[in-house]
Parts: sequence; structure tokens; C-alpha cells
Amino acid sequence: MGLFSKKDKYIRINPNRSVVRKTEAPQPDVPDDLFAKCPACKHTIYKKDLGVIKICPKCSYNFRISAQDRLAITVDEGSFVELFKGIETTDPLKFPGYKAKLVQTREKTGLDEAVITGLAEMNGVKMALAIMDSNFIMASMGTVVGEKLTRLFEYATEEKLAVVIFTASGGARMQEGIMSLMQMAKVSAAVKRHSNAGLFYLTVLTDPTTGGVTASFAMLGDVIIAEPQSLIGFAGRRVIETTVRENLPDDFQKAEFLLEHGFVDAIVKRTEMKDTIAKLVAFHGGV
Ligand SMILES: [Zn+2]
Repeated sequence: MGLFSKKDKYIRINPNRSVVRKTEAPQPDVPDDLFAKCPACKHTIYKKDLGVIKICPKCSYNFRISAQDRLAITVDEGSFVELFKGIETTDPLKFPGYKAKLVQTREKTGLDEAVITGLAEMNGVKMALAIMDSNFIMASMGTVVGEKLTRLFEYATEEKLAVVIFTASGGARMQEGIMSLMQMAKVSAAVKRHSNAGLFYLTVLTDPTTGGVTASFAMLGDVIIAEPQSLIGFAGRRVIETTVRENLPDDFQKAEFLLEHGFVDAIVKRTEMKDTIAKLVAFHGGV
């Protein structure tokens, strides 16, 4: 008998039989939205255990939340005044299906664009606030996102207010081509004028902050904080691995890795976010 003989070692499976069995087996009736899988530790979590603040009880990963939910848990109740709503994109490339996609996404999310901007208070401390929402075309940065953020910085410069931005983004909005890339320079210039006026700018990097947003205003904060386990990077992991032909560490592009390497000043849990921001803004001359 040969050294690698397979004789008598494997059971033969009748494919027809297994198909019959599959259809006969009773299917458990579990609603789709009862459980969530944690993207960080891969545990399946009963959604009710995540609570309103949506933190994984196993690994403390901060789940992605909508801009509206973030507002509700972060700012003083009733203090948010939305500004610069209703700006429409001109659809500069006349990209097929783009306008229809925007209409559909607006209906689905209740947002008019991938960022909400306005004035808010946290523990009584006033600031100009922007929150990006990854549910809106992956919070990609198009001309409207750029315009809203630029106006917010200009308003804050005039009113002598600190700016706080919760960033989240898949990058530039491909449906707007080079016009979306130009927003990087446009917002950065507004950040610089705000900074020249001696005003404070804080960025809070949330999961995921990538592409052109990371390469511009997300990394320009005077202080940069991040939520635990957030993915933060420019190009995707696979692109980098193929380019440098090296295997990257498991925690590469995670907030903790970035903290260790000096890109992030602190990692702040969602439960402590409001107090931390209020303290930082007040400490840097907030009103
Ligand atoms: Zn987890």
C-alpha cells in the first residue's frame, strides 16, 4: 500500500441526499435585525446589549452610528442649530444615476448630504460642529461636503468659535471626479485661516476615516482624538501590501496603532467623548 493511499479513510457523501436533507430541515425563524456582528472581534452580539451608545461589550469597539444618533448622545439637549443645509451638487460630471442615488440616499438616511454642520454646546461650551455619516454614500467627500465644511470654518472664524469635526469617510466622491479632490485643498485653506485667527480645531476620527478626508482636514486638527478600534488610513490595506510587497501587522491602520506611532493624540471612548471635547474646547479658549 502506498504511503499516501486514501483507501478507507474518507466517508463518501451522496450529494443528492444532502440536498434533500437541507430542504427538509426546519429553518429557525430569526429576525435579521436582532443580532449584530462586531467587525473588530467578530463576536455576534445581541443588539439590545449594544445600548444607545453602541459599544461592543466584548472588545469595546465603537459601532458606526448615524449623525443623528451621535448628536443625541454627544451634544447638550436642544442646543444644536443646523447651518448650511440644502446645498445641492451641480453634478459636474453628469454622472449616470448620481442624482437618483442622491435622492434615494436622502430618503433612506433623512440627511441632505454626508455631513451635518451647525452650532452646538457640550456641557455649556459652545462650538461649531460637523458630523459625517458613513450611511450617506460612505460619507464620501463631494463638492457639497467641501462647501458645508468651508462655510462652517469661515463662520467659526468670524464668530471666534472652536471647530469640532467627527470625521468618517470612504474618501473622495468618485461621481464628482476631480471636483471632489479639490475639496481637500478648499477645506484645508479654510482650516488655515481659522488657525491663523488663533482658534482651536479638534478632529474626532471615527470608523472609518480614509482617503482624501484623512489626507486633508481629518489630520489638520490641533488635537486629534479617535474612537477605539477605528479604521484610519489613506489607501486600503491590500493596495499598500501589494505596493510594498510586505505583510502588514494585524492592527495596521487601527486607532491604537496610530496612537502608538504618533498620528493620534488620544483614544477616547464614546461614553467619555462629550466631557473630553467640552474640556478641550474650554481649555483652548472656548466660550
Ligand atoms: Zn467586538
